[in-house]
Amino acid sequence: MSFLEAWLFRDCPHCGTRNTQMAPLAVNTPAQRASSTPLYWSFVACPRCGGAVALRHGGVNDPTLYRTIPEDSRDALQVRHVPEKIARFYLDAVRVLEAGVPDAAAVQLRRTLEGAAAHFEIRERVLVRSIETMIEQGLVTRSFGAVLHHVRAVGNQGAHFTDTELTEEEVRQALRFTTALLRNVFEVPGELAALEQDSDSERDV
Ligand SMILES: [Zn+2]
Repeated sequence: MSFLEAWLFRDCPHCGTRNTQMAPLAVNTPAQRASSTPLYWSFVACPRCGGAVALRHGGVNDPTLYRTIPEDSRDALQVRHVPEKIARFYLDAVRVLEAGVPDAAAVQLRRTLEGAAAHFEIRERVLVRSIETMIEQGLVTRSFGAVLHHVRAVGNQGAHFTDTELTEEEVRQALRFTTALLRNVFEVPGELAALEQDSDSERDV
């Protein structure tokens, strides 16, 4: 059989837990398809959040991992060069969302976005206004304007009994927006600065 134990050790793409040992749910399951050999799938789950990952691999004598659904959190959610305090809010948001508490995740996402704006000395009273100012100042691209309603939803969600509850999907959209915004304002400039440093040190040699 071609499923490898080593594939159990991975980052959870749902809650972000690193290098956890996934529990096998079903392994080496053949999926028949018309006029061809079957595809082989295995399913594993995170012991922390219960989120499942589907792995497509080779059949007998082919221990190749062809596809992972969803992809590793490293690709999907990781953002580099984010200041530590802001990164903490962001990762907290991911964790509580996976724990099934979208309202708490919304609060952490709002803090993440407020933190990002404050990093650039923008402190408007309303979060959506802060993001608009970031767009006006060219810190984030204009295309973000189209998705500002996600920020508005998150920004309006308070910690009060009377506030409307957000759905998981609304918060997931806000999370995607936040990830994109952090990439825009921290990761891209950070990577460019690192590239420049590299070429500077090459000149010194
Ligand atoms: Zn997990």
